Amino acid sequence: MEVLYGSTRNDTRKVQASQAILQGLSEDGGLFVPDHIPALDKSLQEISEMDYRETAYEVMKLFLSDFTKEELTSCIDKAYDAKFDTKEIAPLVEKEHTYYLELFHGATIAFKDMALSILPHLMITSAKKNHAKETIVILTATSGDTGKAALAGFADVEGTKIIVFYPKNGVSPIQEKQMVTQKGDNTCVVGIHGNFDDAQTGVKQIFSDKELEKEMLEHGLRFSSANSINIGRLVPQIVYYVYAYTRLLKEGKIADGEAINVVVPTGNFGNILAAFYAKNMGVPIAKLICASNENKVLYDFFRTGSYDRNREFVLTSSPSMDILISSNLERLIYRIAGNDAGKNADFMNALAKSGAYSITEEMKAQLGDFYGNYASEKETADSIRSLYEKTGYVMDTHTAVANAVYQKYLNETSDQTKTVIASTASPFKFTRSVMNAIDAGYDSMSDFELVGELSRIADVKVPKAIEEIETAPILHDMVCEKDEMKKTVKEILGISQH
Ligand SMILES: *Cc1c(COP(=O)(O)O)cnc(C)c1O
Repeated sequence: MEVLYGSTRNDTRKVQASQAILQGLSEDGGLFVPDHIPALDKSLQEISEMDYRETAYEVMKLFLSDFTKEELTSCIDKAYDAKFDTKEIAPLVEKEHTYYLELFHGATIAFKDMALSILPHLMITSAKKNHAKETIVILTATSGDTGKAALAGFADVEGTKIIVFYPKNGVSPIQEKQMVTQKGDNTCVVGIHGNFDDAQTGVKQIFSDKELEKEMLEHGLRFSSANSINIGRLVPQIVYYVYAYTRLLKEGKIADGEAINVVVPTGNFGNILAAFYAKNMGVPIAKLICASNENKVLYDFFRTGSYDRNREFVLTSSPSMDILISSNLERLIYRIAGNDAGKNADFMNALAKSGAYSITEEMKAQLGDFYGNYASEKETADSIRSLYEKTGYVMDTHTAVANAVYQKYLNETSDQTKTVIASTASPFKFTRSVMNAIDAGYDSMSDFELVGELSRIADVKVPKAIEEIETAPILHDMVCEKDEMKKTVKEILGISQH
């Protein structure tokens, strides 16, 4: 059965997958959601014999039902190739009876590569299918990792331009260097004086600006989004949960049908929502463990049923999770509201107006699949050091938040279910925080000295993505105020003011 997409805020109009991908965000400000979650049509046993690309096809064909087999396999083949430094694409590493699903073997060494290596191809294909002639302008807000992965994915892709906004003082030095050294005539990187939520809110406002949209069209331009609000980001992320389960099955670590838990270090709620979709497709997942850092708005939500962003924004050592408005939660709210767009829109309007909303008891009762908790900065650092001392394996700070939360879950429940931790970034991306966690004595070393030291103690080769930026020239130095984003976009695109 074909999957169509409607907005979480007004679902009277349904579009095909390619239209939802091309558009990014719905015109009413809502997010596109599938009208049903398709079930896998091959057994998990059969899928366990497939490689990553074949698994990707089995999952994505069900969601992108207006793509032909040729179109989809071509996108998949271009995405999951030698840009990844391992044939497995997403290897599972077992440490201390827990499985780390390493999602950081792509070009920019964070899990965003899993979806952003394929999104440009899905988008170009979608434009062709819909006879869209305009240049696609990708507008993206980043907490650090999406920006670089999107830049790398879209750089020099014909028919596209990409503008990335990042919080000037809210990303790691290596994340910033990765972005501002980005090559490609169609790329643009802008720092804003504000935090990630400011950047994300600004981008969403620009997307729903009707007047700007008209001006854009007059100039042969149209916006789309590479953020996880785009369904073309979410669908490729479902793949690796199916892949992880079927690898465990293939290796005899679990019996067919045996349930696993999944722990996801969460910011915008995209990655864990993909796991939830995988569960709904038929992957035996028991608990979805949602791990937050000190920006624990999701932990409080799961505990109380109230979402409240009115709190201090904390800059942590896991900056890609420094988020108070988790955009993709809207897709879950819509669902537990009984797929009621009107009801969901009321919650989102309350969030926009007062920064808070509370769901009903009936809705809260449907959150039983999820367990939420958070890790403090100290707990995060302790878990990096502890796992390193026991096993020699070095996690990045985001994965460490997940690890620390998983320990809390185990202490509370003694649940013996086999567990996969989504390992979302290479430790080399957050070298200073990681090395300081292992030994405070590292503090006096320079960033690139630390890279060498991490490589030595972890016995892992320095990733190409890090080697490259050491000497790369800085190509982007634009900075703007958070309320100047629209003006900046117009300047970059050469659209006159009036
Ligand atoms: C983006 C990111 C996250 C958070 O993922 P969401 O899908 O936004 O919840 C976690 N860890 C890293 C390293 C990331 O880049």
